[in-house]
Amino acid sequence: MSRSAHPAGPRHADVLPEGHYSAPPADLNALDPKVWSQTVTRDEHGVLTVGGIDVKRLAEEYGTPAYVLDEDDFRSRARAWRTAFGENADVFYAGKAFLSRAVVRWLNEEGLNLDVCSGGELATALSAGMPAERIAFHGNNKSAAEIRRAVEAGVGRIVLDSFQEIVRVAHIARELGTRQRVQIRVTVGVEAHTHEFIATAHEDQKFGIPLAGGQAAEAVRRALQLDSLEVIGIHSHIGSQIFDMSGFEVAAHRVVGLLKDIRDEHGVELPEIDLGGGLGIAYTSDDDPREPHEIAKALSEIVTRECEAAKLRTPRISVEPGRAIVGPTAFTLYEVGTVKPLEGLRTYVSVDGGMSDNIRTALYDAEYSVALVSRSSDAGPMLTRVVGKHCESGDIVVKDAFLPSDLAPGDLIAVPATGAYCRSMASNYNHVLRPPVVAVKDGQARVIVRRETEEDLLRLDVG
Ligand SMILES: *Cc1c(COP(=O)(O)O)cnc(C)c1O
Repeated sequence: MSRSAHPAGPRHADVLPEGHYSAPPADLNALDPKVWSQTVTRDEHGVLTVGGIDVKRLAEEYGTPAYVLDEDDFRSRARAWRTAFGENADVFYAGKAFLSRAVVRWLNEEGLNLDVCSGGELATALSAGMPAERIAFHGNNKSAAEIRRAVEAGVGRIVLDSFQEIVRVAHIARELGTRQRVQIRVTVGVEAHTHEFIATAHEDQKFGIPLAGGQAAEAVRRALQLDSLEVIGIHSHIGSQIFDMSGFEVAAHRVVGLLKDIRDEHGVELPEIDLGGGLGIAYTSDDDPREPHEIAKALSEIVTRECEAAKLRTPRISVEPGRAIVGPTAFTLYEVGTVKPLEGLRTYVSVDGGMSDNIRTALYDAEYSVALVSRSSDAGPMLTRVVGKHCESGDIVVKDAFLPSDLAPGDLIAVPATGAYCRSMASNYNHVLRPPVVAVKDGQARVIVRRETEEDLLRLDVG
C-alpha cells in the first residue's frame, strides 16, 4: 500500500509493522503465569478473575482505568525475598516502585525494611507506622529540610551520594546532637545489561561517588573523620531490570576491594554492604527472571568468596528490590474505546488511559503484554498497538501485541506487570485523573489509593 493512500495523518512512517513480535501466541486466551499475578485465572465464562473477583465487577465498582493489585501475591513475593535472604541479610523494598500506606503496613508485617528517596516517601512510610530504624534514605540531592526530618525521625541509615552531602548530613546530625548511621554510595563502573536510561552504575551519571581515581576512598576518609557520622558500609546499585548476575559479581568484587583498602588504611572493617536493587521481572513471556532464593544464594556466595580472598569478615548484606516485589503483582484494567484498523499496518486500540498511567513505554521503550479479559474469544489474532487517549503520538501503552480480531469498544483489556513505576510515575497530562489502586484478596476488593477527582485537580489551581 502506498503512503498516499492514507489521508494526511499522524506519522505513518512510524507505524510500519516493525517490532519485537514474532508469531502470534498459540492461544490468545491463555494467561502466562510468568506475567500475571498469582491468583489470576479465567472463570467458566472466560472472564479474568483476581483474588477471587472478576474484572467486570471491578470495572463496574471502581471504573477504568484502574490498577488492580493482588495482595496475596505482593505479600508472598515480599516474604520470599525475606526468607531467601534470612537472618544475616536485610531486604529493603524500594518505595519509589510503588508506595502507599497499605503497602507499608504489608511490608512491616512481612518483616521487610524500606527505602525512601524524598520527604514525601518518608512521610508516607512514617505515617503508616514503619519504624524509622528500618528506613533507609536515598537520593542524590536531599534537601536540608529532608535530611533534618530523616535524622530527627531516627532513620536507620542515610545513603550519602556526594562530598557535599557528607558535610551536610554531618552538620545536621551534630546540630541535632546525634550520630547518624550512613552508607556511602559508590559507582563501581559496571554497566548493567539493560536499557541505557535505566542503567546506573557506569560512571558518567549523577548517582554515587566513583571508585575510579580514589574518589570513593576519599569520601570514606572524610566521613570517618566526622564524629556525627557512623559509617556502616558501602552502597552500590548497578541498574534496573537486570537478569544477568555477572554485573553484581563485578560490583561486589569492587566494593569488597574498597572495604579492603579501608581496612588497610584505617584499621576498620565496615560491617555492611548494600548491593542495591534492579532485579528483572517478566513483562512478556520472553523474559526469564530469577527466583529470590537463587539471587540470594548467588549474592551471598559472591560476597563470601570475595571477602575470603581479601581476608575480611563477611559483612552483612542488604538488597533493595522494588520492581521484583511489586511489579508482577498488579495489572492495569482498561476499557477499549476505539478500534481503528490501518490497512496493511496494524490496528490501533485506544484505551481510556495511556501515558499518564504508564509512561514506561514512551520513556524506556518498555515492552508489555496485553489480554482481552472481560471474555474469552475464539477469533483469530490481530496485530495491534494499544494506545492511550493523550494528545501525543508517542502515547503508546503496548507497542506490539496480538489481540483477538473481534475486539470491540466496551471490551476490557488488561496490561500485566504494571505494579512498579506506573502509578508512582503517573501524571496529570491533559488533566487526566490518575487511576485508583484497588487491592484484591480472598474475594474482597478495597481501594488503597483512590481515583483522583476534578476537585483534586482544581484544589491546586488557585489562580
Ligand atoms: C531504583 C532503586 C532501587 C530499586 O530498583 P528496582 O529496579 O525497582 O529493583 C533500589 N535501590 C536504589 C538505590 C535505587 O535507586
